[in-house]
Amino acid sequence: MDQKEYQAYALHSFHKMPQYNYLTEEQKFNIRVVGNVLPFKVNNYVLDELIDWSDVENDPIFQLTFPQKGMLSKPHFNKVASMVEAGMDKYAMRDEINKIRQELNPHPAGQQSSNVPEIDGVKLTGVQHKYRETMLFFPRKGQTCHAYCTFCFRWPQFVGMDDLKFAMNETSLIIKYIKANPHITDILITGGDPMVMAPEVFATYLNALLDADLPNLQNIRIGSKSLTFWPYKYTTDKGADKFLKLFEKATKAGKHLTFMAHFNNPVEISTPTVKKAIQNIRNTGAQIRTQAPIMKYINDDADAWATMWKEQVKLGCVPYYMFIARDTGAQDYFAVNLERCWQIYREAYQKVSGIARTVRGPSMSASPGKVQVLGTQEIHGEKVFVLNFLQGRNPDWVGRPFFAKYDPHAIWLDELEPAFGEEKFFFEKAKENQNISSTELSYN
Ligand SMILES: *Cc1c(COP(=O)(O)O)cnc(C)c1O
Ligand code: SF4
Repeated sequence: MDQKEYQAYALHSFHKMPQYNYLTEEQKFNIRVVGNVLPFKVNNYVLDELIDWSDVENDPIFQLTFPQKGMLSKPHFNKVASMVEAGMDKYAMRDEINKIRQELNPHPAGQQSSNVPEIDGVKLTGVQHKYRETMLFFPRKGQTCHAYCTFCFRWPQFVGMDDLKFAMNETSLIIKYIKANPHITDILITGGDPMVMAPEVFATYLNALLDADLPNLQNIRIGSKSLTFWPYKYTTDKGADKFLKLFEKATKAGKHLTFMAHFNNPVEISTPTVKKAIQNIRNTGAQIRTQAPIMKYINDDADAWATMWKEQVKLGCVPYYMFIARDTGAQDYFAVNLERCWQIYREAYQKVSGIARTVRGPSMSASPGKVQVLGTQEIHGEKVFVLNFLQGRNPDWVGRPFFAKYDPHAIWLDELEPAFGEEKFFFEKAKENQNISSTELSYN
């Protein structure tokens, strides 16, 4: 299968997609307008196999990949619409567009600047090390994707705001860093999507990790949406065998290789190609774990999650995380409030057997850590959220339940206030008292 990509602007190819005429004039216009601000890219697999064109308005994968009018505020939309109507090209619009992008909180939770470690006085710009055991690595050639998700929190790099500064070529520094930090057991190779790399390029990274003597490095994770956006990568693509052999090499070398697959909706694991791809990856000894955020229009429905988890287990995958939509880009469009996220999680969790209850969530990746909404509860007449750290900037926070005032509209941690008349959450107090955590935080 040859891959054909379609974008709204950059390639002027959006109108060439075979399904173009299924869209109304209004939809085409909206896509052009919003696609000038947020990234847009789809390919023939997504168009032909995943989207139901007979009911495109309500199609979850259409919502996942195509810009929608509601993703911009009215003033932002109208501003861009008037420029598009005036026939301005993207260079003429650039300043206005960049202003709008800046207003969309492009770097939530200190994405760019915090958690970047150093070794020998050199900043490892392509590394994020926030949680003691696991470092994230952003290889330079893996900073794009086969298609783009409309809710993606990495959107600034796809529209050229981030200039790929947050990525690197070198593995030698990373190996040095892993050696110097014996707490690190996991490397998570991420992006973008590292699986957009050619197998030869991917091999240079993986081989370097395998050939180095790194006894503390037990788990190699690859974060990827390629199973949804281009599963041929593991079946009939020219490089498929090379990738599969590499995975096998890692597992034979005694490393646990886990493919962190991003699936948002059951339709993504329903095609014969994705099923074959999953089987081929599993046959290398690699494990597949699955994760996704809860998004309105895409999967804000317990049945969708229960179906996904059951199907994943059936195909030998391990449900891993359910996330809450991050506070960036089109968050307002997709947002599901915290209480509703918990209800969806709980309802779905109740529908599956213990085998699928490996999934944890719903969780916010916020700056202090991954915060799980355990639920709401009434304690001595006060309704509260019960929350829990699944991961913490300070490892000692993990597994500590805490309480926030109930707020039916809250969609993110920073909107919550401590319950029971407390002034601050316990982790905010810890920040003031640096000597509590300075030893644990020395790796930061
Ligand atoms: C989620 C996450 C990890 C991995 O956490 P696990 O709970 O081990 O899966 C690592 N680093 C960052 C910054 C993360 O957000
Ligand atoms: S595949 Fe991942 S990184 Fe790429 S657009 Fe989707 S969510 Fe973002």
